[in-house]
Amino acid sequence: MTTTADPVPMLDTAASWAELAHELEPAVLAVLRSGRWVLGETVARFEREVAAVLDVPHAIGVASGTDALQLALMALDVRPGDEVVTTPFTFFATASTIARLGAVPVFADVREDDLLLDVERVESVIGPRTRVVLPVHLYGQCVDPVAFADLAHRRGIALLEDAAQAIGGARAGVMAGSLGALAAFSFYPTKNLGAAGDGGLVTTRDADLAERVRCLREHGARDRYHHLEIGLNSRLDAVQAAILSVRLRHLAAWNAARDRVARTYDTLLGEAGLLERVRPLARAAGGVHVWHQYVVRVPRREDVRDALHRAGIGCAVYYPVPLHLQPCFAHLGGQPGDLPVAERAAAEVLALPIHPGLRTEEQERVVATLAGVLGD
Ligand SMILES: *Cc1c(COP(=O)(O)O)cnc(C)c1O
Repeated sequence: MTTTADPVPMLDTAASWAELAHELEPAVLAVLRSGRWVLGETVARFEREVAAVLDVPHAIGVASGTDALQLALMALDVRPGDEVVTTPFTFFATASTIARLGAVPVFADVREDDLLLDVERVESVIGPRTRVVLPVHLYGQCVDPVAFADLAHRRGIALLEDAAQAIGGARAGVMAGSLGALAAFSFYPTKNLGAAGDGGLVTTRDADLAERVRCLREHGARDRYHHLEIGLNSRLDAVQAAILSVRLRHLAAWNAARDRVARTYDTLLGEAGLLERVRPLARAAGGVHVWHQYVVRVPRREDVRDALHRAGIGCAVYYPVPLHLQPCFAHLGGQPGDLPVAERAAAEVLALPIHPGLRTEEQERVVATLAGVLGD
């Protein structure tokens, strides 16, 4: 029986395994017994399946979402001193992969209403060294594909999508992963399509770029021991591919369930009269939001977070420090006040539990707890 003391976790990875154990365990065992553990037919099959779902001709499985970004930037020939314009309000890997190549992340502020990279601010920081624009489909919502495609076309700059949080999402009829020259996805266990460990994917519509990424993920060798360039060792494990093939068949239903959870939060927050104080982010009409996170902005965020945690309710801050203020990027000269929209967001955002199995009673407890700390 549910009692008010039952915790509401952000995510329960063990439960998500148990839900499909009857499909996952035979698939994993078959790979282990086959002895073909790195790439091979299991990975090739998953690449074909995921390419079909994402409606792109080429999908390349790699070791993580971070490596997917790294390999995509390498395939675009980003070199030391080049600039890549991106958002400060994202996971670290979006920018660290730029810096690792000796290139310079240039941060443009985000939009006030949805916290997505602001295309006009991107335009204002583009300079002669800008090689790539790297927008992030934050929390499961895609950036405006028309505005970004127009910018890339007019300025002759490549687009790379960080689609780690948006698998299955779309906007204005453009699916995440098919807007840019290349896109990067992550299969980290907390993502909408999660492996049992690390995994990632690069997608592209360009056959030459696809070939380049395939080569770069295996030490830059097309034929073994003949190295055309200096690549990485970044391959998707066959065990992970087998797990992902099973879970991919459920992705559309899971994303639809996340959408129902999000709408239930909207309704419950409205009924509780909380929408002045607990403000969900704006979402674009006509988009397919896949709700990697359900994020609200709240006053006294640390108090609210502590109250939820005391009540056994999972919640998290994505992201508490904008990237231009990270110690490792201090040499770039970012100062507090430079990117005020991202800085305010970092102080106010709070992600509430959202996953396909979240029950309405659990959401009611989350909202009741919010009402307890922020109500009058
Ligand atoms: C998760 C994530 C990544 C990195 O993916 P990993 O698989 O953890 O390496 C990159 N960018 C964003 C926006 C992410 O959410």
